[in-house]
Amino acid sequence: MSDTPRILFVEDSKFFATMVRRRIEEELGFEVDWKATYGEAVEAIDCCKDDYLVALLDVTLPDAPNGEIVEYALKKGIPSIIFTGGFDGKMRSQFLTWNVVDYILKDSSACVDYLMGTISRIHKNRDIKALVVEDSKPMRGAMIRLLKTQLYQVHEATNGEEALTVFGQNPDIKLVVTDYEMPKMNGVELIRKLRENHSKNELAIIGVSASDDPLLSANLIKSGANDFVSKPFQVEEFHCRVGHSIEMLENIALIKDLSYKDPLTRLYNRRYFFENTAAFITDLVNVGDTYSVAMIDIDFFKNVNDSYGHAAGDEVLKSISAIVAGSFRDKAIVCRFGGEEFCVLLGHAPDTDVVVLFDRVREAIERSSVVVDGTTIKVTVSTGVCSDPDDLQAMLKVADKRLYAAKDSGRNRVVASG
Ligand code: GH3
Ligand code: MG
Ligand code: MG
Ligand code: MG
Repeated sequence: MSDTPRILFVEDSKFFATMVRRRIEEELGFEVDWKATYGEAVEAIDCCKDDYLVALLDVTLPDAPNGEIVEYALKKGIPSIIFTGGFDGKMRSQFLTWNVVDYILKDSSACVDYLMGTISRIHKNRDIKALVVEDSKPMRGAMIRLLKTQLYQVHEATNGEEALTVFGQNPDIKLVVTDYEMPKMNGVELIRKLRENHSKNELAIIGVSASDDPLLSANLIKSGANDFVSKPFQVEEFHCRVGHSIEMLENIALIKDLSYKDPLTRLYNRRYFFENTAAFITDLVNVGDTYSVAMIDIDFFKNVNDSYGHAAGDEVLKSISAIVAGSFRDKAIVCRFGGEEFCVLLGHAPDTDVVVLFDRVREAIERSSVVVDGTTIKVTVSTGVCSDPDDLQAMLKVADKRLYAAKDSGRNRVVASG
């Protein structure tokens, strides 16, 4: 599959097709292959089925009025979303036996909003690992199949103990769907164990049980499940609860990202720095490394704004940020501390010549330039470094003092002593 996801869209109404296609292209940035008939769609599937992320299929086409295209697409293994003009119980069970991603009633413009959500969800799901924990083989198979229709990468376990092993091998699992009653380790015990190291904001857990105990759902949720589904469930409810839990994880991750990153430069901010440095330093010290703190400040930056305007100043800040961040890929926290000031916490072997490393950054910035509206702008930076491990605040103070020494002694230099 190419980098830009492709969607096969089979729809005979030109008006509806044009509108949906435009929204998918504009809002999601995906490519859309539109086909108006069964014949054309079959041709596209036969030629390029592996290119499609998903197919959007109208069940009634002029040359195939009874969902024949859906059967064809699914037979060829293309995940499919069905569009239908009408809907009844019989059609619903037909859709469900077809194992479609979703079915959408073409009744209002809201259905297109819903479709956008479904497509972008399924695109993201391909990168999400899920784990189904269930001792009953048919039930486990059913839940695995449901998650696979949504394109999750699905792992399985038959009890809590086995689940912990699978989780250990796949620590990037984001969703666990677990039964309650199981041999060896039940659902509640498993949830408690998983929650020792993974909060509700990092790992979604959905409890599932057929038990008649009316307090079981509360018990599972109080043990740490994000949500609960009782067996037997409706397929739609299962998908909705799974989808909501995953979306909650994504929203929390987005909020965290926004609160930890500076919007202009995309570098971490002070909040991230002070919340994450302690653990970062502990990890370094555990592997026998030491660390340095550097304060980097752009020289005469006010002049850039005064001469070229604030927008040009912003471009310079972005460019310098990229150079600083790009200079320290591993073992470093690079953040924008204030206006035109950056802080780097760098982990390194005890015998590393840190001054050389920061002088390379200084040099790279001196050599670089930013072109804004045809004008070339060049800046330099001054840097103060502290390499004597101490309380972080004390190290920052020393680095700051040395930064000012660098400014006072002529700028465009690194000061690491005195
Ligand atoms: P020095 O060499 O002593 O550091 O001089 P300087 O001009 O760099 O220092 P000063 O502290 O006087 O000025 C910093 C300037 O950075 C002033 C402020 O307007 C500008 N600045 C801070 N944040 C931003 C920003 O986000 N965008 C732009 N364009 N300018 C910013
Ligand atoms: Mg069971
Ligand atoms: Mg400055
Ligand atoms: Mg400054």
